[in-house]
Amino acid sequence: MKLSIAGTGYVGLVTGTGFANLGNDVICFDVDQAKINQLKDGVLPIYEPGLEEIYKRNFESGRLRFTTDSVKAVQESEIIFICVGTPSNEKQEADLTYVKEVAKVIGKYMNEYKVVVNKSTVPVGTADLVEQIIKENQQKEIEFDVVSNPEFLREGAAVKDFENPDRIIIGTDSKKAEEIMTSLFRSRARTDRPIMVTGIKSAEIIKYASNAMLATRISFMNQLSFLCEKAGADIKEVARGLGLDSRIGPRFLQAGIGYGGSCFPKDIRALTSTLKQHGCDSDLFEAIHRINEKQKSVVVEKLREILEIKDSTIAIWGISFKPKTDDIREAPSIKIINALKDMGAKIHACDPVAIENARKTLKDVKFFENPYETIRDCDALIVATEWDEFRNLDMRAVKILLKNPIIIDGRNIYDPKEMQTLGFIYSGIGR
Ligand code: NAD
Repeated sequence: MKLSIAGTGYVGLVTGTGFANLGNDVICFDVDQAKINQLKDGVLPIYEPGLEEIYKRNFESGRLRFTTDSVKAVQESEIIFICVGTPSNEKQEADLTYVKEVAKVIGKYMNEYKVVVNKSTVPVGTADLVEQIIKENQQKEIEFDVVSNPEFLREGAAVKDFENPDRIIIGTDSKKAEEIMTSLFRSRARTDRPIMVTGIKSAEIIKYASNAMLATRISFMNQLSFLCEKAGADIKEVARGLGLDSRIGPRFLQAGIGYGGSCFPKDIRALTSTLKQHGCDSDLFEAIHRINEKQKSVVVEKLREILEIKDSTIAIWGISFKPKTDDIREAPSIKIINALKDMGAKIHACDPVAIENARKTLKDVKFFENPYETIRDCDALIVATEWDEFRNLDMRAVKILLKNPIIIDGRNIYDPKEMQTLGFIYSGIGR
């Protein structure tokens, strides 16, 4: 099939590359000339495990093309995926500016029937808005359908998730669009990984409901972690005992320094706004957000109790919002680093892949490639991202390199007893 993808970010690149790899003819278009130039030069602008190999192969074969020429991309494709960003605006709603821009271009330059697929995370009712914008901008009446196909990929495992999704949601009221979409997706669906066709509005809500449910589990455990600490329990044991219940399951039950990234925070805020706009209560989602914001300062508070932060040097292991990605959008590490800097600390930070992005956002931070180099002569170490690279390090060397043997483990990757035996002043979350 001939596809075009609007937006070459995490979602657009993985989707475009994945579909090209299945034999489709894919044009990815973006307004960011520098990004497109990079992609045309064979350089991936993001880090995502497994993506580089399939990008290179499909780019070289000519099945995967990149352009800023949106007109050509729209006209040469039967299906157009909208994969542009939907960040929070000042009212904490999803900012639909980029989605609307793409819809305008599609309307204006459409030359024959198209399926327009909303893959960006957008509030319920956006498909109607996209349809209206396309109609308003059409030069002449041409048939088209708008479909909602929310994306559930996890950064760090996006290629795997594309190839083996839990489910594919296709929200449409059109039989024609349903047939086109199911035939496109058929190769991706396993027998036990269903393609589910829903109404458009249900599909739009399914995406927010999924992220809100996962965020709820995280805030739920983070709130319980305080009780565990006060009462002398261990949140990891509680999580395991809880997760063994087959009605609950073990995923997303880890207490830590809160969720970040380009999805959960903004999606919870957007869902809250949408509920309010529809005259519905949003207390639960407001609480989830509030708990998460508070959680990001927990490690700073813990450190303050044992160390004079002014004029200290603090090492931070992990900047990305989670392991296996270079994405630092709304990463808890950023809030932690800025809070410590405001309190007069110097910061050393290290991350396996996110340093380039971090340099653009974080000023006056000394970056290191090597975790041991990062901590040399530091007054304390904070673990902010649970990269595997930090799990099996030589903790005796860590103790020697640190000026004070203080570790605040914001991701509970170490065993408290072992750390105490080694002579660390160690504090995890909820243990
Ligand atoms: P991103 O910020 O990485 O990429 C968005 C891209 O869209 C940018 O390259 C930008 O230049 C481009 N763009 C903006 N306006 C454009 C236009 N008019 N025409 C063409 N391109 C344009 O975003 P992302 O992380 O890939 O997320 C995209 C959407 O998918 C968001 O709605 C997000 O909530 C959703 N989503 C993201 C993830 C994730 O893990 N990142 C997962 C599921 C869903």
